[in-house]
Amino acid sequence: MAISGVSCCRKSSEDEKSMRQAQTSSDGGGSSSLTKSIEDTGGSNNKSSQSLVRSHQVLKIKLKKITNWSGCSGAHLDDEPFYHGYMSREEAEKLVRTQGEFLLRKTELTKRGEVVVLSVFWDDSAHHLVVEKTNNGLHYLKEFCFENISDLVRYHHQTRTSVYKSGIKLFCWVVREEWQLYHEQINLGKKLGNGEFGEVFQGMLSVGIFTNDVEVAVKTMKGSKVTADERITFLREANLMLKLNHKYVVRLYGVATQQEPIMIVMELCSGGSLKGRIEKKEHEMSSSLKRKYCKQIAKGMRYLEKKQVIHRDLAARNVLLDKSDNCKISDFGLSLFGKLHKEQKLMKVPIRWLAPETLLKGIYSSKTDVWSFGVVMFEVFSRDYPYAEVKVLKELRRKVAHEHLRLQPPSDMPPEDTKIMEMCFEPAETRVSFDQLCKKFVYSPHLLSIPSFRYKDLTSPLPTWNGIANKLVGIGAAV
Ligand code: ADP
Repeated sequence: MAISGVSCCRKSSEDEKSMRQAQTSSDGGGSSSLTKSIEDTGGSNNKSSQSLVRSHQVLKIKLKKITNWSGCSGAHLDDEPFYHGYMSREEAEKLVRTQGEFLLRKTELTKRGEVVVLSVFWDDSAHHLVVEKTNNGLHYLKEFCFENISDLVRYHHQTRTSVYKSGIKLFCWVVREEWQLYHEQINLGKKLGNGEFGEVFQGMLSVGIFTNDVEVAVKTMKGSKVTADERITFLREANLMLKLNHKYVVRLYGVATQQEPIMIVMELCSGGSLKGRIEKKEHEMSSSLKRKYCKQIAKGMRYLEKKQVIHRDLAARNVLLDKSDNCKISDFGLSLFGKLHKEQKLMKVPIRWLAPETLLKGIYSSKTDVWSFGVVMFEVFSRDYPYAEVKVLKELRRKVAHEHLRLQPPSDMPPEDTKIMEMCFEPAETRVSFDQLCKKFVYSPHLLSIPSFRYKDLTSPLPTWNGIANKLVGIGAAV
């Protein structure tokens, strides 16, 4: 199951254009006359998706205000199990699958801005209906209008009155997943850093009255003017992380999309980034400790390789450390599912970490992640910047892709680690996989005595995952 608002391909709010658009010509109070202008500009690539009206037409509709229906609860939309917050058309179509199955979501239309949409499956296809609003604030789908959207939907669901002229009815709703968090469950604390879309905070996640709050990291999406496109890109990362569960990969706890700012709630890595650690030259780092870090990253990457996730941005800056000084692979903003991916044009890419086949042909695979892992090994063992002597990226690109420039192991790098790093820089055809690579990190008993970095200010034990897993069932079983 995917997260609200997440789509693997970037789609603009134009996709929603084919929804009907309505203009009210009356105040909508009581029974009144209404002229609806419904338009379909086409636009969905999905064959299962069907727009309601194929051509421009005008309908005359009488609205009836419902006030004394016994089922009126006045519930807030956020509290409704069928309301999924921000969600793209594509994601909604993956969720509504049987006759009359529906959900309510928020989206953005190019011309109208933010709207609430009912997505319902009827006669072999998904239909998307904008919940319309009269001039005096009443909500309607067809002929009944209500003071609140929650009552409107419940009315159509319980009375089985159709929501559109072609007889579409609401039979059962798609329940919000438990990883879809409420903003009220999240308490923000101090700021941890800046992300591409907003700030990252330390925070507490409340998961139930009988369970202790859990320390988390919260990525927020700032700005009231974020487009649907940006929102989808922001949530793409969470959508992918939702399918991952491994000791050395940052875990996703959930997302809160009902209100602004949208939040992604993750496992807290209070040790900062591995890059930050290796840059602190005043702290001694033994070869065994460096090896421990590399081994953990390789194991995390082996898991991703098995799951057919190509990370595409593996670098020391994207590996975080938890309280116990364990590595957690993070930043899945560029990651993709699949075995091989070809990019037509390389834009905003981390050149210093890329394999020659990526630089030459735009090819990405787990093997290109292996190359990046070799660069991470260099970062860890040298505590230096890769190819620091080559300042101009264009020049570096040419040298790595065409002139066989390779990172040289630092003089104090143990020979067995040097061998592993060099394997990562083999041509793609003979390059090892992460599975093979992990076997090269032979267990050495002296690793047991590695002194971990100490955090004076972090003394409380880590929250147990089980407590959260029981609550957030949508996250998936532990691996
Ligand atoms: P983006 O991918 O949006 O640019 P990042 O994932 O790089 O954002 O996060 C920005 C910063 O926030 C990181 O450099 C790190 O300092 C902090 N951060 C991100 N995720 C976590 C986390 N799970 N735990 C602790 N700090 C985090």
